[in-house]
Amino acid sequence: MATTRSIPAPHPHPDTQAFWDAAVNGKFLIRRCDACGKTHWYPRPICPFCASPATQWVEASGRGTVYSYSVNRHADPVYIIAYVTLAEGPTMLTNLVDCNPDEPLIGRAVKLVFTPTDGGPPVPTFTLA
Ligand SMILES: [Zn+2]
Repeated sequence: MATTRSIPAPHPHPDTQAFWDAAVNGKFLIRRCDACGKTHWYPRPICPFCASPATQWVEASGRGTVYSYSVNRHADPVYIIAYVTLAEGPTMLTNLVDCNPDEPLIGRAVKLVFTPTDGGPPVPTFTLA
């Protein structure tokens, strides 16, 4: 049931530095557009829905639902890549951790858990809620 693995450190970009700084403090940020009101993932300064530059960081709830996933059984330890649809709307590519890869996971409620990386800020992953 080992589904966690060593994760390389992210390389923050000026557009995402605030995200990683927040992650170090246990906060999960996404972007929201002030023009159309939608949230989006991955974080970017221009809204992907209406092209407005009026976007800002907002703290997400960390709650979501598994949309789909794939188990990498060739890796040691085995790990699970998943699309999680956040309670705020966006669907993000992430990892499921501390989950049984032999158990059906689509549609399951999950919650955010930051997973440490090799010398960098932690990355957002999810586990069953
Ligand atoms: Zn917008």
